[in-house]
Amino acid sequence: MISEKMKALVRGSSVIRAMFEEGKKMAGEIGRENVYDYSLGNPSVNPPEKVKESIKKILDEKDPNYIHGYMSNSGYEDVRDRIADSLNKRFATHFNRNNLIMTVGAAGGLNIALKALINPGDEVITFSPFFGEYRNYVSNFEGVLVELPPNEKGDFRPDPEALRNAITVRTRALIVNNPNNPTGVVYSKEDIKNIAAVLKEKSAEFGAPIYLISDEPYRELAYDGVKVPYLTKYYDNTIVGYSFSKSLSLPGERIGYIVVPDEADGAKELISACNVANRILGFVNAPSLMQLAVAECLDEKCAVEVYDKNRKKLYEELTGMGFTLVKPEGAFYLFVKTPEDDGAFSAKAKEKHLFLVPGKSFGCSGYVRIAYCVDYDMIIRSLPAFRELAAEYGLC
Ligand code: PLP
Repeated sequence: MISEKMKALVRGSSVIRAMFEEGKKMAGEIGRENVYDYSLGNPSVNPPEKVKESIKKILDEKDPNYIHGYMSNSGYEDVRDRIADSLNKRFATHFNRNNLIMTVGAAGGLNIALKALINPGDEVITFSPFFGEYRNYVSNFEGVLVELPPNEKGDFRPDPEALRNAITVRTRALIVNNPNNPTGVVYSKEDIKNIAAVLKEKSAEFGAPIYLISDEPYRELAYDGVKVPYLTKYYDNTIVGYSFSKSLSLPGERIGYIVVPDEADGAKELISACNVANRILGFVNAPSLMQLAVAECLDEKCAVEVYDKNRKKLYEELTGMGFTLVKPEGAFYLFVKTPEDDGAFSAKAKEKHLFLVPGKSFGCSGYVRIAYCVDYDMIIRSLPAFRELAAEYGLC
């Protein structure tokens, strides 16, 4: 028999994954070209050529024991040196290898950071809508996820007043995700400064640091020249969780890292704790070959222009049909207001072979998420279905 906790988790298992499976099944029945699956944030562009070349070169030229062996739980020293140098060049920071731990994607990074920080019953705050897995990651360590509703303006920017009111003596951390999944909103420097001011004020009031966990798998996916601020520059007690899943289109390879700056309260202890967490959660270390490969590709990017083209087309078409949505500036998602309950709307969309994830999965009912990391041709083919849907609701 499985545990009571797992029984509940299995019952509430990922709607997105279930939808993806359903989409695959429908494609088998009526043909792939007739199904418009916008459910999963799986990159549609290939990794840069240099990833493949680097892997081949590493396999050909390096000692197999070095490539495939155990190592420090934090990852290869020279890989962390190279990433630290790259960050310092890009963001005028001053990290070194000791500030970094290579992780099993952003998911691994978030889990080790939360394991290091949370006592049972501690609270972790996040702004809705948010990546639904945060609920599981926080509950993994008996923490409580506090979900702040979106602001009244509906622009999905963080609300510092709501944050101030939500912080209690049990608050250990705030998780932000910038650029954001599912809204595509990019928090500005001002947004971050406002958040940082509240966290500083409340940390002082309660006499204990409140950490800012910056979940950044979409950092490189920003459009129209929008800048994504680097959070350690605005708040010392920041833990950055980065991933190459989207920036290099490598989600299956499970590779990322966390950064803990020296300025963070108890930085040394925190890094040691994350290091041990990496080991005892069973990650041990991030995949070795991938660590070496991404270190060769730090100046590479996937074809962001492909996502940008999809973004522009869908935004223009959907707004033209009467749908309401905030223009996304980053990531590869659109978050569209639904004219009725998001579950009912999603079911109606499915009748037209459109797979759109209800906002409930992101702690925000009344919307659906469209993952536009798909073929442009599928977008074009799907437009009549969106138009029919809009017409049924009297939007156009
Ligand atoms: N955080 C957010 C906001 C995500 O959207 C995802 C994946 O889609 C993750 C974390 C997990 O990323 P990774 O594949 O690097 O573990």
